[in-house]
Amino acid sequence: MRRLQALYRDDAAKVEVYLARYGLELTPQRIQECAALEGTKDPLLASSARCSVCGQEIPYWIVKSGTQRIEMNEFHIPCSAAGTQGHFSVNPIIYEVIVCAGCLFASALRSDFGAATPASREKGLELSGPAKQRFTEARESRAARLEGAAPEALFLRPRDLDSVIVAYEIACDTDVWKLEHNMPGARLRLGADHLRVYTLLKMRGDDERAPLVLEEAHADLQAAYADSEDPNVGAPAAYLALAVSIRTGRSSDAAQYYQILRKLDSETPEGPGTRGVLRWCKMAGELWTSWRAGELG
Ligand SMILES: [Zn+2]
Repeated sequence: MRRLQALYRDDAAKVEVYLARYGLELTPQRIQECAALEGTKDPLLASSARCSVCGQEIPYWIVKSGTQRIEMNEFHIPCSAAGTQGHFSVNPIIYEVIVCAGCLFASALRSDFGAATPASREKGLELSGPAKQRFTEARESRAARLEGAAPEALFLRPRDLDSVIVAYEIACDTDVWKLEHNMPGARLRLGADHLRVYTLLKMRGDDERAPLVLEEAHADLQAAYADSEDPNVGAPAAYLALAVSIRTGRSSDAAQYYQILRKLDSETPEGPGTRGVLRWCKMAGELWTSWRAGELG
């Protein structure tokens, strides 16, 4: 990271963009590409939260809304971002996952963390004594995952792509814990976080690991749909299972999930409580049409 700072003469914006795009591996072509970037306004907003496991205050950053033009992949995850109105480019996915520097607890859900100020009502994930102990004892296994990543990049700015991947992998451990404790929506969340790891691995150009993670996502999402009773979980699970089935070449699975979503669409009345469900159904129709038309990359 120091070499990069020296190369860009401490131009924080360029260092930030380079790390988020390419990680710590430097190549002359990429260095030149980022050197030519325009946009100097910082799109990040500093905030802080409190760890639900160890109680430590955690600084984190949010990409301000309206500062990026975001492109989503078929999993509805931002796969690229371009700064607008003079802001430099940062994909929000890079800063969405929060990691505690004390105990390495991580989650991509802000609601899993409490407020930094005790007066606020944000409680975070409410953990029993034994649950806290379980997370505390598992700190070492989380620390083992950090090998190869720059730990300070998990807690400070700028974040590099490799550290972010590790952070989401640790967040998947949190999802697994929630799943073991039958928390609602945990299986869907695990599938969605595996899709975030997949998206980041693709950004990283890691074509060896990416398909393996996609298989994990496939299993999670199939199970999330099969177990769902609430259409607010079932619809996104079926949509994502459809998208993964298409991506992994499982045509008959894809057809099956598409039919499920069509049926759900026809049976769901319009109203304020069903907007989310209908949106997933509509997206399924669009995805299906572009896949059949051969428009998916
Ligand atoms: Zn902590």
